[in-house]
Amino acid sequence: MPVFDILRYDTATKELFIFGQVWSLGLKSGFYNDPSIYGATYVAVHFFLKAILPWVIVLCIFPLFGVLLGRSFCGWLCPEGALFELADFLTLKTIGQRSLYKKKLNDPEIKKGNKFFYGILSGLFLLIVPPLTGAALTGYFIAPKIIWHQITTGNFTFGVKAGIIGVSIYMFVTSILVRHAFCKYVCAAGLMQMLFGWISPVSLRIKFDRENLSRCTDCKRCEKACFMDVKPRYPKKDINCVNCGECITACRKELGDKCLFSYSFGSNTICVEHKALSLKCQEASE
Ligand code: SF4
Ligand code: SF4
Repeated sequence: MPVFDILRYDTATKELFIFGQVWSLGLKSGFYNDPSIYGATYVAVHFFLKAILPWVIVLCIFPLFGVLLGRSFCGWLCPEGALFELADFLTLKTIGQRSLYKKKLNDPEIKKGNKFFYGILSGLFLLIVPPLTGAALTGYFIAPKIIWHQITTGNFTFGVKAGIIGVSIYMFVTSILVRHAFCKYVCAAGLMQMLFGWISPVSLRIKFDRENLSRCTDCKRCEKACFMDVKPRYPKKDINCVNCGECITACRKELGDKCLFSYSFGSNTICVEHKALSLKCQEASE
């Protein structure tokens, strides 16, 4: 986005670029020289439209996502989430577990692969991803062509150096060490989707077909597919579910068209009136 001026703030010129245009408040000093009601109203309306309304719209995006689609942004669109999943994949292939710290019950089984190859790939990931994202994100505040020039000449200003090193450390900590714990406990965008998705009676959720529970072979593929550590068969709304659909794919591999999961709008995953089934599901998932 910074490279094509789709969105960036240039700290040198103090200008905000949006879709190639400079977003200015248009409050030239001359406005204030007109003390009439007309002049004051003009300034107020301009300020509302250009300074307040865009922020209101930006702040509403994630709650709106939550109300309609639950945490689907996290599951499908978040670039950081994609890096976390890539880090999970490489760790699994290299050391046989998703996490760097311990093997979990829901870690997928992996076919014996080329650990050496994935070890090299993991090393490259470690070396390349943090500084690359550091340079990319610094571009939101310093013109990308200046960053590129400094990278190619090796002649860095303090701002570019601080931006790249600071973001690299952040990316190293989140993408390599913390991963999905960041989505669960830290990310404000995730939290907003989570809260609004939780209270919304219409948001998108994963539905488990409890009426056909007898089809379940208890293969646990659905649980092993879930990188958010949700137990998808367990009959309650789990705020950590990001609607990624991995459990649907996993169950399809086991049951084909008779798969027990589907997407559904509305709060039909709560099982208050289905206590017996609820217990059965719980037993099955344990
Ligand atoms: S429960 Fe299913 S859809 Fe939700 S996060 Fe886990 S795998 Fe993705
Ligand atoms: S719900 Fe589907 S994937 Fe999950 S344990 Fe049952 S059969 Fe396996």
